Amino acid sequence: MQLVLLVAAVLVPCAVLVALSVRIIGQERELRVKRQADEQQQIVVRARDALLAALKPILLDEVRVDLRLGQAYRHPETVFVGWAEEDRLVLPWEPERDQAARNCRELISQPGFEPAISACEQLGNQPHELSLTTGCYERAVAAASHPQQAAYARWLLAQALDAAGGRPEQAAQLFRGLLDEGPEVTDADGIPLGLHAARVLLQGGAADGRIFSRVERDLAARPWLPPMSSFVVTEIAERLARAAKNPEEKRAAEELTRKAAALVRLLQQAEALQNDFPRLRAVLSRPQPSWVTYGDEVWLVGAAGPQGTAIVVVRGQDVFGRLAATGVTRFADSRDPGGELLGEAFPGLKVVMASNGSFIEDPAGDLQRRAFYAALLLVVLVTMFAAYLLWRDLKREMRSSELRAQFVSSVSHELKTPLTAIRMFAETLQLGRCGGPETQSDYLGTIVNECERLSRLVDGVLLFSKAEQGKKTWRFRPVELADALQAAVRALEYPLSQQGFQLHMAIEDNLPRIAADRDALEQAILNLLSNAIKYSGDARDIDLSLYRENGEVVVKVTDHGIGIAPEEHARIFEKFYRAAARENQFIPGTGLGLALVAQIVKAHGGRVTVDSAVGKGSTFYLRFPVEHAGEEGAPGPRPPTPEPRGR
Ligand code: ADP
Repeated sequence: MQLVLLVAAVLVPCAVLVALSVRIIGQERELRVKRQADEQQQIVVRARDALLAALKPILLDEVRVDLRLGQAYRHPETVFVGWAEEDRLVLPWEPERDQAARNCRELISQPGFEPAISACEQLGNQPHELSLTTGCYERAVAAASHPQQAAYARWLLAQALDAAGGRPEQAAQLFRGLLDEGPEVTDADGIPLGLHAARVLLQGGAADGRIFSRVERDLAARPWLPPMSSFVVTEIAERLARAAKNPEEKRAAEELTRKAAALVRLLQQAEALQNDFPRLRAVLSRPQPSWVTYGDEVWLVGAAGPQGTAIVVVRGQDVFGRLAATGVTRFADSRDPGGELLGEAFPGLKVVMASNGSFIEDPAGDLQRRAFYAALLLVVLVTMFAAYLLWRDLKREMRSSELRAQFVSSVSHELKTPLTAIRMFAETLQLGRCGGPETQSDYLGTIVNECERLSRLVDGVLLFSKAEQGKKTWRFRPVELADALQAAVRALEYPLSQQGFQLHMAIEDNLPRIAADRDALEQAILNLLSNAIKYSGDARDIDLSLYRENGEVVVKVTDHGIGIAPEEHARIFEKFYRAAARENQFIPGTGLGLALVAQIVKAHGGRVTVDSAVGKGSTFYLRFPVEHAGEEGAPGPRPPTPEPRGR
């Protein structure tokens, strides 16, 4: 019942508190996760809108640019603008290259010029003097009616001179002249003659600023070059880097090489895009603006113009760089495990935020939560501890009330037995029914003995009660322990002889006196002797000795009776405690005897110990320090006051 009460009063509220707290914390966490998810969603929307806003003008402006008119792209992020012809992506350099090649071919085949060139080419197939060939090409130059024709003829003349190796300076001069020709002056493959000339000059070992600036000019004209031209430029840039004479030239040439390499990469990615274009076309032709990401160097590909035929390619990183303020840390493609998809407008494109899409712990909140857990744990621990204390006290209280009840019944019994005996003998004497004077004296002896037993019992209870309440005034005087011992034995002479006990006394000579309350001391010895009588069972020998050992005077009381189980050795000194042994139940007692002994010995600065085994008997020791003595009326131990021996 008590346990049920304890659980109901302490443990249930405690469990409810813990459950509620855990629930609240869980809810708070859920809320935080939701809030964070909302924030991330907002970032995604912000990033998408910002990206669309950044790309829109690029899309609109670049489709209006007409490269044929020599216009440059209006936005630095633009890689190129192509055209969709059905499912084919036309790259911007393809028509330009074809146009240039076509122009070249048309001009060369004009009736006023073509025969002159053919004649020279036929000459070139036969062995003859170099001057014949050069003369022929010089005539072709003269026959040219268009600068492109003239340049072409000069290019052939320079090549012829170079091949013959006869007049290298003249050849070099012609090549140098070609360096100044514009990018539109090309050969039949659309490669600018100026670039050809630069390469030949470099092969011949010439490397100078003019070649460098010619190549730079070609690179600066547009963000891209047709493929063949790009490869020629790459070769030239590498040769220039090798031929550089000082660190400055080297740096500049390396920069050129880097640009050329970037150009080649651009072309390769553009060609890959061209191959994949049929696959992307479906997404690009949606009515909603949508941008496809493409390639390792991320490009954003969008469509504009009538039926989305203009394909605008924008360098992703350049645009992404402008969106840092939206809360996005980086952009990634769909293969990236983290991040959030940007939605339909950008299929496959993801944004990665500071939280990387996963729940981030908020350190301040975390600390708060930990403090909360710690406080909760503390509350639970304190409650548990309080419950334990309560439980212990409850048990103690229960036990003590049990013992008290037992004590009351024991005392009543103890009082009743001698009273009955006294009454019985007194009545017999009153009626004059007893035999002779000897029997009469016997009866009177019994009555006196029972009275003494009664008063011992009452004295003991009173002394115990006083000592318990701290009201006992100990009267310390130097005492011969032997005297107290003898007095106790005298008090018990009658019951001892009545029950046929043999008391073996051994008192050491010349023992020092100790400061003690003699009456109390006598009571303590009396209690031990009474117990020895009570618990002797069938044994009839009791040993009582007094001796000195290790600076202490020891009173030793030994019986050979029922003994005490080891686990009860400590408890028998508790008030009201009576050992649970079966034999004990038939022996009258109050459970106060040893408690009183312990109190008295403690007040004398001594100690009481027991040595006992069940069925073998028990020995009780009272040990008093020798130097211990006190003054009359002192409430506690004091140094001994000298007093004549044998008082
Ligand atoms: P009681 O009035 O019951 O004797 P005590 O305080 O004197 O109370 O003793 C407490 C218990 O210790 C006893 O009930 C008994 O079980 C045990 N006890 C005391 N003295 C002896 C002894 N000499 N032999 C065996 N048991 C003893």
